[in-house]
Amino acid sequence: MKKGKKIHEGKAKIIYATHVKDLVIQYFKDDATAFNNQKKSTIEGKGVLNNRISEHILSNLSQIGIKNHLVKRLNMREQIIKLVEIIPIEFIVRNVATGSITKRLGIEDGTVLKEPLIEFCLKDDKLGDPLIAEQHILAFYWASKKEIDKVKKMILRINDFMIGMFRGVGIKLIDFKLEFGRLKVNGKEEVILADEISPDTCRLWDSITDKKLDKDRFRKDLGDLIPAYTEVAKRLGIEDGTVLKEPLIEFCLKDDKLGDPLIAEEHILAFDWASKKEIEKVKKMILRINDFMIGMFRGCLLYTSDAADDSLRVDLVGRRIIKK
Ligand code: UDP
Repeated sequence: MKKGKKIHEGKAKIIYATHVKDLVIQYFKDDATAFNNQKKSTIEGKGVLNNRISEHILSNLSQIGIKNHLVKRLNMREQIIKLVEIIPIEFIVRNVATGSITKRLGIEDGTVLKEPLIEFCLKDDKLGDPLIAEQHILAFYWASKKEIDKVKKMILRINDFMIGMFRGVGIKLIDFKLEFGRLKVNGKEEVILADEISPDTCRLWDSITDKKLDKDRFRKDLGDLIPAYTEVAKRLGIEDGTVLKEPLIEFCLKDDKLGDPLIAEEHILAFDWASKKEIEKVKKMILRINDFMIGMFRGCLLYTSDAADDSLRVDLVGRRIIKK
């Protein structure tokens, strides 16, 4: 897919044209902004994580019939998406009250809502994305009644799915933001899910410790944003890094003072740390051990969370859970 001209640059993403009509490339930047752009920073690696997490969630949503703009992830920072006409509304979904709503309405932080609350904000940075009512959307033709009803139905399904998905990996879905867009399919206009779903756009708390695993780490200067986003990716089972064609064996000299430096096989022979015969034997054993361990770990759920409860010894299908 050929990358063309930049069409749009937002706070966290850039959209590029492609040579295919109606398909564009969405590039995830490392830029972080908060409080209507008053706080800004660059956090190396954030874009890569959001690209992977958003791909994971959107492709899972499409498997349950929630149409969305994702076509496929291209590489670490880019995905091909369908070009839509974005409805200029941010749909905020809340399961637990925190953030702006607690200040606006004097609600106690952490109040669990009886049922999900959908709020509407006008997408307008200059105005600070003001909260609006459904009636404003209709009065100013930002979307039709039919579109809003459709979007609300989709939102409730997305929320149920995401609450379940996160609960399964020990995370509470507190709130999140969604955007939708219009797409022409066979001459008919359809509303589909667009933008991204990631720790940048959700509030995610560890189920047991309430540790924040989302952009609040940046908003509230809590630090360790990348480890938190990585934790979310890991728990969702998103594979990290490049899968090697075949196992790679590296050698390090066992010497704490030198920091166990990486060495080549030639060093081992040159300094008589092991004989050629010994190294060959060890390499054969390593490959067998590796095969065995891959098989064993694949057969069970590797659960590496500190939050795992001691009583959680098996997952829902009875596989063993290994604690860190
Ligand atoms: N949110 C977002 N983009 C926005 C505003 C909100 O992704 O422009 C998300 C935010 O990450 C949170 C939820 O929507 O998960 C509710 O945000 P809230 O209105 O409480 O935001 P605050 O003003 O507290 O940042």
